[in-house]
Amino acid sequence: MKVSLLGGMAALFPNAKAQDAPCRPFRLHAGVRLPTSEERRQADAKTSPAFDNIRGEIEATLALHGTSVDWNGEFWKCVRPYLKLDRDGDGLSDWTVSIDAAPSPVLIPLDPDLDGDGVENLFDVAPNDARLGSITPKGLPPHLVARDAETRALQLRIYERYGLVAVDNSDAHSPGVLRTVDELLEGLPEIMRQARGLRLLFAFAGHDARHDQAAYHRQMRALSLGGRKSYPDRLDAAARAELLHTLAHEIGHAVLFDLVGPAELQNFASHQAGWRDVFAERPETSLLGPAFFRPFPRRSVSTPAPLSPYAKRNLHEWFAEAYAATALKRLIARGRLDASQVRQRGIERLDENTENWVKRLADFDG
Ligand SMILES: [Zn+2]
Repeated sequence: MKVSLLGGMAALFPNAKAQDAPCRPFRLHAGVRLPTSEERRQADAKTSPAFDNIRGEIEATLALHGTSVDWNGEFWKCVRPYLKLDRDGDGLSDWTVSIDAAPSPVLIPLDPDLDGDGVENLFDVAPNDARLGSITPKGLPPHLVARDAETRALQLRIYERYGLVAVDNSDAHSPGVLRTVDELLEGLPEIMRQARGLRLLFAFAGHDARHDQAAYHRQMRALSLGGRKSYPDRLDAAARAELLHTLAHEIGHAVLFDLVGPAELQNFASHQAGWRDVFAERPETSLLGPAFFRPFPRRSVSTPAPLSPYAKRNLHEWFAEAYAATALKRLIARGRLDASQVRQRGIERLDENTENWVKRLADFDG
């Protein structure tokens, strides 16, 4: 089972409990200084063009799901000062609340360069200080480089070959996991062309190796995975196959946003995959629209039935499962994965029609 697209962030913070602040900023790397309460208080006392820019967007996104925003309610009162912060005064709020269909309590940096020094936050040794980090490093900057030699070698290889940055967060990356990432991308190099929205791999302590393996975070263009607390340094064949499927599934979430779009998904899903009853008369204009989060209609006599129980949860999960099955079939065909390792992952139930649709959309090679 995978973390859903919705609200996944909260689950990634094992220490985030209900009694914690209703919103909390996300630390991109260990060296980041977070805004103090005094800075937030001062920001909230002023008008902010950045806030004026973002508030309508947030209200509109939530209105799609029938939720209105009360800026004086407990949650939004906590969020508001962060949205008003705009350190480099470029009109872009420093922070945003992560929203898919509902707001997550974890705030992420919206401005990719908070201090405006020309170095992206993640690569910036001091993202809040324009005097530090003004030279863009060519390779990975020291604050991101893994300590363990084997992990470091894999981290550099994945960065150099695919432009993906593996960043330690609440866990340290596991060489077993990074080796599997490398094997997936070596077997299916077209993935990085398909998942344009994917740039980061975070290691989180909240994931495990079985039930809650990974999540895709669209606004951060990131996947989060378990690290050394969850995985051994060497994965056996079954664990490797399981992780390959999970990675492909989460990348499928990214591909849906990058390559597919609401009209294409609605068209195929309603006419050829039995999902018509989730849609109202009016077509959805956003992948975050409510129809895409409704479960598979029970009464629907579908040919074919969704690939797996998980694929019935909603169309985001259905697409991610279809993409994963298509990708793993390619991996098997290229001799990179033994078919016997991935039974009951929906591959047998992937119909030709859906497979061809995914292959065409995602532009799989050969
Ligand atoms: Zn999923």
